[in-house]
Amino acid sequence: MSEKTILVSACLLGTPCRYDGKSKPNTAVKAFLKASHARVIPICPEVMGGLVTPRPPAEIQPDGRVMTQSGLDVTAAYDQGAEKVLQLAQKEGANLVILQAKSPSCGVSSRYDGSFTKTLVKAPGVTARLLKDHGIQLLEPQDLGGKNLFERKL
Ligand code: SF4
Repeated sequence: MSEKTILVSACLLGTPCRYDGKSKPNTAVKAFLKASHARVIPICPEVMGGLVTPRPPAEIQPDGRVMTQSGLDVTAAYDQGAEKVLQLAQKEGANLVILQAKSPSCGVSSRYDGSFTKTLVKAPGVTARLLKDHGIQLLEPQDLGGKNLFERKL
């Protein structure tokens, strides 16, 4: 059987690549990856898109652009990061991508609505949407409650 490959939001593994210069290590994700015996490739679409860390927080606006609160349009960087993650996932034959929740790049089931008021909408981030449109299986940390999920879903 060929080796399984999982791409993972790097901040979930402890890399301090978030907009605020911090990480978001997740024990459930780490345990899941350990149990899966998969090859793990960390990704951060915002850094891969050329953005620095720390960086101003940004949100997807109702018109689809990604803007910082001060009005800087960072859509191109978000799109570029998403494309790079897609290319990497395809090149490496990823079976699964685990993405951090609520992020304007990585959020799978929800993200903030663009008003910078911590209001969530049920819509994906830029990278999650692109990967989903290409048929790549996505999970968020909150999906990892079940045992042997990897085997069951693939
Ligand atoms: Fe984490 Fe994704 Fe944000 Fe990078 S873009 S810091 S991987 S949530």
